[in-house]
Amino acid sequence: MTTRNGREAPLTVGIDVGGTNIRASVVDGSGEVLDTVQAPTPHAARALEDGLARAVRELRSRHEIGAVGLAVAGFVDETRSSVRFAPHLPWEDSAVAGRLTERLGLPVILEHDANAAMWAEYRFGAAAGAHNGVLVAIGTGIGAALLVDGRLYRGSYGVAPELGHLQVVPQGRACPCGKRGCWERYCSGTALVDTAIEMLATDPMRSTILAREVFADPGALTGRKVAGGAQDGDPVALQVMADFARWLGLGLAFVGDIFDPDLIVIAGGVSSSAALFLDDAREHYAAAVTGARHRPLARIRTTQLGEAAGMIGAAELARSALEPATSASRSGSGVDDESGSGEPDDRGSRTAARSRAQRNSVKAAQPQPNSAKATRAQPNGSSGRGSANSAARGPGAKTGTRRR
Ligand SMILES: [Zn+2]
Repeated sequence: MTTRNGREAPLTVGIDVGGTNIRASVVDGSGEVLDTVQAPTPHAARALEDGLARAVRELRSRHEIGAVGLAVAGFVDETRSSVRFAPHLPWEDSAVAGRLTERLGLPVILEHDANAAMWAEYRFGAAAGAHNGVLVAIGTGIGAALLVDGRLYRGSYGVAPELGHLQVVPQGRACPCGKRGCWERYCSGTALVDTAIEMLATDPMRSTILAREVFADPGALTGRKVAGGAQDGDPVALQVMADFARWLGLGLAFVGDIFDPDLIVIAGGVSSSAALFLDDAREHYAAAVTGARHRPLARIRTTQLGEAAGMIGAAELARSALEPATSASRSGSGVDDESGSGEPDDRGSRTAARSRAQRNSVKAAQPQPNSAKATRAQPNGSSGRGSANSAARGPGAKTGTRRR
């Protein structure tokens, strides 16, 4: 694949930095994964960065690499150079991109993992052609990302969107984030278990399969088992899935009322059971979104890139950082990245405040890497930042690729 300049698009590395594993892949300009290495995630910051550097060096020994993108399950700051907080990673207010850039001698960008996944789906997968998209990655919790006019929306401080923690039930189920009644307490793999246990508590004789599971060992019930039960026709499991579908549709309707998306991508581990809930969820969405009969409704689809989306998206964002070297020359102008490249950068006015390392490394990470996207580019984007979804989700929550 060639760039707008007619140059060969460089290979880049995308790394999914999850709480359990680091997975690093070489990705080409068409989103193809060429090579992957994986290692357990070290628990100390220095060891983690050593591990990341090792993975990149190994891939670099086999491929010519232009840049590196990290998909991080946590809050990434608005410059995408630091991790503010990540519940399962040893980084806190940590300037990861600059340090890795220095170690590797390559540009390094950070992105929230759900944002990275959204970007990959937009460029190469289920969200291709969307203008305004929402990605909802449903696993232990909910991770989410927003695409607005063909660009990732990160809010003002890098934290948007925390859809999983919209309170849908006042005084509802307790959430690790400290609130009650968050959407992900009713619409996640964890929620499948909680709902099943609640239903069985009120009517323990109703289910054969699930009841046996729960009475034998309530702690051993998993969302996957509930989905399996539904697959086998277990009446309680089917009811649990119906409840899940209702909450999914209702929650999406909140999102739909605010953002009026044309596409919603359901990702995360639970999406593999979409056949059990997606049609119902679409109906609930249509019933709950305002004015449904008088507006086009968002298409609701499942992920196309699955677990690899975060890596592919991070690699693609890193690649776009290498596109027309507009940033360095125009830093501080408030409009960096917009001219020649046709790819707007929402962080323009903040550029001057950035560190040099970050300028070198992160820059254009909010890209419109090709001309098709560029036509939708908005010149002055908003505030650009990494939308961290997982962090506030607490210990059980994961975003992006991990949930799939
Ligand atoms: Zn919460």
